[in-house]
Amino acid sequence: MRRVLVAGAGPVGLAAALTLARGGVPVTVLEAGAGLAGESRASTFHPPTLEMLASLGVLDELMTRGLVARTFQYRDRRGGPIATLDLSVLAGDTPYPFRVQCEQSKLTPILCEHVVRHGGEVLFGQEVAQVTALGDGVRVTAAGGGRFSGDWLIGADGAHSAVRRSLGIPFEGRTYPERFLVASVHEDLEALLPGLAPINYVFDPDEWLVLLRTPDHWRVLLPTPDGSADDEELARLPARLRAVADPGRDWRVAHASLYRVHQRVAARFVAGRVLLAGDAAHVNNPLGGLGMNSGIHDAVLMASSLVDEMPSDEARAGRAPAGEAASGEAASGEAAAVGAVAARRREVALDHVQAISHGNWARMRAPGRHEELRALAADPAAARAYLLRACLISALRP
Ligand SMILES: Cc1cc2nc3c(=O)[nH]c(=O)nc-3n(C[C@H](O)[C@H](O)[C@H](O)COP(=O)(O)OP(=O)(O)OC[C@H]3O[C@@H](n4cnc5c(N)ncnc54)[C@H](O)[C@@H]3O)c2cc1C
Repeated sequence: MRRVLVAGAGPVGLAAALTLARGGVPVTVLEAGAGLAGESRASTFHPPTLEMLASLGVLDELMTRGLVARTFQYRDRRGGPIATLDLSVLAGDTPYPFRVQCEQSKLTPILCEHVVRHGGEVLFGQEVAQVTALGDGVRVTAAGGGRFSGDWLIGADGAHSAVRRSLGIPFEGRTYPERFLVASVHEDLEALLPGLAPINYVFDPDEWLVLLRTPDHWRVLLPTPDGSADDEELARLPARLRAVADPGRDWRVAHASLYRVHQRVAARFVAGRVLLAGDAAHVNNPLGGLGMNSGIHDAVLMASSLVDEMPSDEARAGRAPAGEAASGEAASGEAAAVGAVAARRREVALDHVQAISHGNWARMRAPGRHEELRALAADPAAARAYLLRACLISALRP
């Protein structure tokens, strides 16, 4: 047996599967849904994620579907632009000194097609229900009764991960006091709010908001107090949007939803021969666009370590049976190397992803940071240091 199983065909599971398939490791993705998820979620790709997608051979296809955003802006809800940060200060650090705005639902079909093209298997309608450790591998039982075995399992089955629950791994952290309301709108916001950048964090002590350009829409993110019915909040949305900018009629809303936001990190990202990646391992608030990005980094780094460490079938055949002791040592070396990558990814989730996204949330509500932000934007060295951390380049450096 030489196969890696992946639970979940979201951006993280498929990035892991493509890394494995391109590395020559047989891979089977088990996805609960009947097809790929189409909902509107992450929409920002940071420079190091673009580098990884380039190395997986899918960046050009993503770029044709997305928009390049070279700047983002901090604004005051009443006073307009405060400071515009230009990602070109990262030109010496990355070949992609910009963000790409594109919905994750446009990336997953590209990844899926490449997984299959490289010989990987993607099975839909297979909901992972139970995970059982075998001596040198793992067995997965699907809700419909199917059984699958592999040397390793990557649990990339989202925030409610059945893999994580099956292993009893705690998922501790906090839930924010407010819900987040996200609306996708068909409005020309550049005309309504002159000087807008493609990504805008709008400060206000009473009602901060985020305005994001995607290829098809503008997206508006509004904090919404807890304790009211979703229907009531959706009914208030037209008035809230007209208070942001008033075109003399209600905004044209394509889609709106309310959701609760958590910051949580699994107690371990590895248990035996099971790895947790992406939302299955850590969730954070969406301010700064770090969830999918850091999840893709987990996927590529964990899967690359499996490609590097898992012996080929030929090497295995050459070692067994005379070299069984050596084979056992190799297996424990493989587990140690992969475990070290998983442990580092947990540190990154805590010290970078959680810290930055919570800092962004706190800043949106804090008054009086305007001078500090103007000084940051005006000083290229300070802006570079800030952006290296904000877009997770420093999280990937030793
Ligand atoms: C409104 C919103 C905006 C966001 N904006 C951003 C952003 O701008 N930038 C950013 O980086 N992040 C953002 N995020 C977070 C981002 O969407 C997630 O971090 C990302 O989707 C995680 O990818 P994933 O593959 O780990 O999980 P998911 O995308 O949740 O995929 C998990 C997959 O596993 C499948 N699955 C679930 N259970 C099982 C099971 N038992 N067996 C098999 N399959 C299963 C699901 O059907 C799904 O296909 C946002 C999230 C939301 C909700």
